Amino acid sequence: MECPHCQSQKVIKQGRDSLNDGTLVQRYQCKESKKRFNERTGTPMARLRNDSQVVAYALNARTEGMGVRAAGRTFGKSHTTIMRWENRIAQKAQH
Ligand SMILES: [Zn+2]
Repeated sequence: MECPHCQSQKVIKQGRDSLNDGTLVQRYQCKESKKRFNERTGTPMARLRNDSQVVAYALNARTEGMGVRAAGRTFGKSHTTIMRWENRIAQKAQH
């Protein structure tokens, strides 16, 4: 296990976290950067979960009338990313 923040291998176990869906994940603290994280942090899975949340918020804001550039700024993504998400979801809806 390495720290997702500074890639240090000097991490110590700090008990367990339970996620919203009830899964237990090992919690760690990095001895170098003192950051806390769990085994899902920094994995593609964690990134995907975060992103899909951001996508949901951003697209919701878009349906509320927020412009694509404003949505990008608000959610820390480029407007091309927002448009890509919209296209992807539009394509899914057609099938
Ligand atoms: Zn670290």
